[in-house]
Amino acid sequence: MSRVNLLDFTLPQLTEWLAAQGEKPFRARQVFQWIHQRGASDFDAMTDLAKSLREKLKAVAQVRAPAILSEHRSADGTVKWLFDVGVGNGIETVFIPEDDRGTLCVSSQVGCALDCKFCSTGRQGFNRDLAVGEIVGQLWVANKRLAEMGSTRLPSPRPSPKGEGEPSPRPVSNVVMMGMGEPLNNFGPVTDAMEVMLHDHAYGLSRRRVTLSTSGVVPHIRKLKERLPVALAVSLHAPNDAIRSRIMPVNDAYPIAELLAACRDYLEVAPRDFITFEYVMLKGVNDAPDHARELLRTLAGTPAKVNLIPFNPFPDSGFERTEPDRVRLFQKILLDAGIVATVRKTRGDDIDAACGQLAGQVVNRMKRKPVHFHPREARS
Ligand code: SAH
Ligand code: SF4
Repeated sequence: MSRVNLLDFTLPQLTEWLAAQGEKPFRARQVFQWIHQRGASDFDAMTDLAKSLREKLKAVAQVRAPAILSEHRSADGTVKWLFDVGVGNGIETVFIPEDDRGTLCVSSQVGCALDCKFCSTGRQGFNRDLAVGEIVGQLWVANKRLAEMGSTRLPSPRPSPKGEGEPSPRPVSNVVMMGMGEPLNNFGPVTDAMEVMLHDHAYGLSRRRVTLSTSGVVPHIRKLKERLPVALAVSLHAPNDAIRSRIMPVNDAYPIAELLAACRDYLEVAPRDFITFEYVMLKGVNDAPDHARELLRTLAGTPAKVNLIPFNPFPDSGFERTEPDRVRLFQKILLDAGIVATVRKTRGDDIDAACGQLAGQVVNRMKRKPVHFHPREARS
C-alpha cells in the first residue's frame, strides 16, 4: 500500500485525515507546522508528537516532494530547478531574488495544452496536471535549498504564529504561478496548494504576495473569485481579438471583451485594485505605436497595470524580440495616457529560466502537431 503524501493536504484535509485515525485537531496543526514551517519530512524529528503517533505516521504517511534532477544558478542570482515528476517528466521552478523580496515562479502542469505560439512550454505539449504536493513541494524544496545555499537575508513576510515553533525567515516571500502550465486548468490542486501557501500555520503569504497568471480561462477566473482571490495577472499580449487569436488559440473560446468583463468582476474581491496585464512584445506582431494606442482603448474602463515583457527566444520560435527603444516608445504611450506600465526585467536568461523559456521534460500526450505562426514572410 502506498503511503499518503501529507504534502497533498490542506490543513482542513489533514485534520480530517488525522481525525479518522482518532487524533485531535491540534495534532493536525502541529504536523502541518512541522512540515511547512520547519521543512520537516522525518516524523521522528516531530518531537512534540506522542511516540505512538509518530510510529503510526511512519507506517502510513510520508512527506514526499518532487526530487531535484538539476539545479542551475544564473549570474544574476536566479536559481532554476528541474524536478522529477515521474515517467520521464520534469517541471521547472525558478527563484528570482530581489532587494526586498524573493519570488518563486511555480509550475502547475507538466507542459501546457493551450499552445500559445510564443511560449516554449506550449511548444512542449501537455502530459498531466500536477498534484497539490507537487505544487506545494516546489515551494517546500526551494525554501530548504535556498536556506542551505545561504539565501536567508529576506525577512519572513509575517511573524511566525506566537509560541509555535521558531520564527523561520524563509527565503521565498512571494509566489507567482507563472511557471509551466495554465494554473486555472488545474483548478482544484492549484487552489488547494495556494491555500497552503497562504495559511498562517504554513507559509503565511498574504493574498497580495501570491499571484496567479492566466491566459484567460474566463469561467475559472469567476470560480477563483469565489474560492481564493489572490492577485491576478492576465496574459493579454494583444490589443485586439484578431492578433490575440493568432498567437493565443484560447482567445477563440474567450475573446477579449469577455475576459475583461471577468477581470472587472474579479476586482470586487481582489487584493489589489487593478489587474496586471502581461504583454509580451513580439517584433512586427503587436509592438507598433498604433497597437499601444489601440490597447489604451481596449483597456479603457478596466483598472489596469501593464507589464511589458521582452520576448524571450527559444529555438525555432519564429518570433523575435522587439528592440528596447521600441519597447520604451510603447511604454511611453501607455504612461502618457495615465496607465501604469512597466517593462519586466529579464532574469535568468543565461540559464533559460526567463518567462516563456521553461520547457522541462514533457512526454507529450496530445495528438496535435504544433502549428508555428510566422509573423513575417521573409526570415532566415
Ligand atoms: N499559463 C499562464 C502562466 C504561465 S506563462 C499564462 O499564460 O499566463 C507566464 C508568462 O510568460 C505569461 O504571461 C506568458 O504569456 C509569458 N510568456 C510565454 N512565453 C514567453 C516568451 N517566450 N517570452 C516572454 N514571455 C513569455
Ligand atoms: Fe500555456 Fe501560458 Fe505558455 Fe500559453 S503562455 S502555452 S497558457 S504556459
